[in-house]
Amino acid sequence: MNRSRKIILASNWKMNLLPEDTKIYMEKLCPMIESMSSRLDIHTYVPYIDIQTALEYSKNSRIKIGAQNCHFENFGAFTGEISTDMLLSLGVKNVIIGHSERRKYFCETDEIINKKINKALNSNMSVILCVGETIKEKNAGIELEIVESQIVNGLKNINNKYLNNVCIAYEPVWAIGTGKTATSLEADSMCKKIRSTIEKIYGKEISMSTSILYGGSLNLENAEDIIIQSDIDGGLIGGASLNPEKFYEIIDRVNNIVKKEGKD
Ligand code: PEP
Repeated sequence: MNRSRKIILASNWKMNLLPEDTKIYMEKLCPMIESMSSRLDIHTYVPYIDIQTALEYSKNSRIKIGAQNCHFENFGAFTGEISTDMLLSLGVKNVIIGHSERRKYFCETDEIINKKINKALNSNMSVILCVGETIKEKNAGIELEIVESQIVNGLKNINNKYLNNVCIAYEPVWAIGTGKTATSLEADSMCKKIRSTIEKIYGKEISMSTSILYGGSLNLENAEDIIIQSDIDGGLIGGASLNPEKFYEIIDRVNNIVKKEGKD
């Protein structure tokens, strides 16, 4: 965790929680995080049908409500999809792109992901680009190449002026929802590699200011250990974020680390 970069704690609800749960969630979480360090950015990525409720019940709070996906076209015959204009019309400016579940279950390739990133950034939205290797790729020893190619292809032709609206989440696929977390050293070393890949494309300054998160079975027990690492700037949290109290406990731990440094 490097205090000159934005520290982001983002919850990803996936296909969980109804609008009535969303109301209760926001009513609990919003007041609890009001006094947190201004260095922490708290995001919640909710299902589309929860967006309006989430926005309504988090109004005037510091939580940023985001979507878990978007399409690369403005409108048209794309049954079941959502456009950036639709999200923006509700006031949503944050979106996750390239989550491994989108890659696996919805056949999203780096090329599709690149088009979505391009569209979202051109629409003035902020993007979390998810990357990470499968267990097969890890066992084959090719995780560095895989992650590097996901970054290079995902950000292909993305102009450097947009990079302050891009954050990367390193999420080893074998760690997502499995209870198996990367060790803090494994996670930090991949995040360093990601930073050096960004540096190769965009230069040192941009690479040093890009927030890189870790995701994959983060919870209260392991969050501090992982997020304190020098090249990890926060976390993307699925299962452990579905309960507002549990998500808050993680935020609180990270907040304490920031406060101890006395730079708030
Ligand atoms: C995720 O959905 O991005 C994620 C990291 O999930 P989990 O924390 O449940 O592994």
